[in-house]
Amino acid sequence: MIHDYDVLVIGGGPAGSCAAWRTQTAGLRTLVVEKQAFPRFRIGESLLPHGNALLRETGVWPKLEKAGFIEKYGASFHLSNGMADKEVVFADALVPGLEKTFQVERAKFDSILLEHAREAGAEVRTRTAVRSLTVEAEGHRVSLETASGPEEVSARWVIDASGRDQFFPSELKRTLDPSPFPKRVAIYNHFHGVARAAGSKGGNTLVVRLPDGWFWIIPIDAERTSVGLVTTIAAMRQANAEPADIFRKTVAGSPKLSELMAGSSPVMDFHVTSDYSYFRRQLAAGRMVLAGDAGGFFDPIFSSGVYMACYSSKLAAEMVVRAHRANRPLTNGECLRYAKRVKAHASVFQRLITTFYDNDGFAVFMSPRPPVKIGAAITAIVAGHARLTWPIRWRFYAFLFFCRIQRWFPTAEKIDFTGMDAVAQTPRAAR
Ligand SMILES: Cc1cc2nc3c(=O)[nH]c(=O)nc-3n(C[C@H](O)[C@H](O)[C@H](O)COP(=O)(O)OP(=O)(O)OC[C@H]3O[C@@H](n4cnc5c(N)ncnc54)[C@H](O)[C@@H]3O)c2cc1C
Repeated sequence: MIHDYDVLVIGGGPAGSCAAWRTQTAGLRTLVVEKQAFPRFRIGESLLPHGNALLRETGVWPKLEKAGFIEKYGASFHLSNGMADKEVVFADALVPGLEKTFQVERAKFDSILLEHAREAGAEVRTRTAVRSLTVEAEGHRVSLETASGPEEVSARWVIDASGRDQFFPSELKRTLDPSPFPKRVAIYNHFHGVARAAGSKGGNTLVVRLPDGWFWIIPIDAERTSVGLVTTIAAMRQANAEPADIFRKTVAGSPKLSELMAGSSPVMDFHVTSDYSYFRRQLAAGRMVLAGDAGGFFDPIFSSGVYMACYSSKLAAEMVVRAHRANRPLTNGECLRYAKRVKAHASVFQRLITTFYDNDGFAVFMSPRPPVKIGAAITAIVAGHARLTWPIRWRFYAFLFFCRIQRWFPTAEKIDFTGMDAVAQTPRAAR
């Protein structure tokens, strides 16, 4: 007998769990299939305060508050030579209500979200992978691979929240938007013994900027800190060394990183993730929607991934529920509007990311006292407020303008990267 569902959600990450909670509580019989056993390791541990409201809507927030996650009140940005820094305090944002969020170990966070969807009544099957999918007149026929062998189910709707996984193919995934970024790579691990500031600043994300890359330092519990190096694939190829060696050498070449990482030790093998920046042109068609990373992801610098997963899955689930109740597939207009809304938020982060990687833009970002509350508007965006209300919008555009003209008409103190060690180069002291 083939089991029949209203909605099949592929993937039990934040996008899948939040979508499943929403469709199930709207009365649609929902199945979530997740190919891995949970809890499972995931990178992406820093949340954004603007995403709190989306998590609150699903009722999972009290469970997150009880889980003992580290509280995050802001982020600190440093130059790798220790010569400049800037602290972003969420409480200073132009928009109130963005004061804090959490740094989360994703294995624990994702399990809480998935369990929450199950408690809402969604059927959740882990260690079950979607292998293929056939479109039928009124929905989809889906082949699953389960621990006890192959199985078929049918579902009127599919929400593909399978993350960056390329295995599961679909027509929707074929065409990508042209990428605004070069191909980048991240080398990361969890560490014991990384230095932390005292008090509430100890929960901040630390970003350490190199001439051609950057490090994240994210405390994920009392002992462990997530630390990762991001650079271009071209720089990594040029370094021509093992990822762990590139990571260690780059730490050794930076006074700021050496100070923070002194006496620390990795707790597992180094992970490498490359070529993660893309957005799919189409995000929905017929009875299928892509949510979260399955639709696209740009760059980890401003920690927007989980927020975008929660935001896109909310829009996706609401669109599916509406069409289901009207007993029809998605209209072209709905699909285009969905993609437009998701990409509008993503493009705000994309423009901020572009300024971060540009040395002139970064100098403006690091400016200690930008005029007319431009800093407070940028803080709101760094806290995830990608909805550009007018007071944020004009200040953001002014900020982008100052970044663009900085090279010729500097409005912020210039940063000289020439004397700084680049990624994976031999430390100066050893030359
Ligand atoms: C280096 C790096 C650092 C990052 N740092 C941050 C950060 O600090 N903060 C932040 O918010 N974001 C960060 N991100 C982004 C973040 O990791 C993702 O945006 C987020 O995990 C997306 O959630 P998701 O639910 O879409 O996908 P995922 O969390 O990837 O979940 C997808 C799930 O689908 C399952 N799956 C895949 N294929 C199948 C299949 N065929 N059948 C069944 N199940 C399947 C997978 O096993 C997985 O569990 C980072 C990303 C990178 C690459």
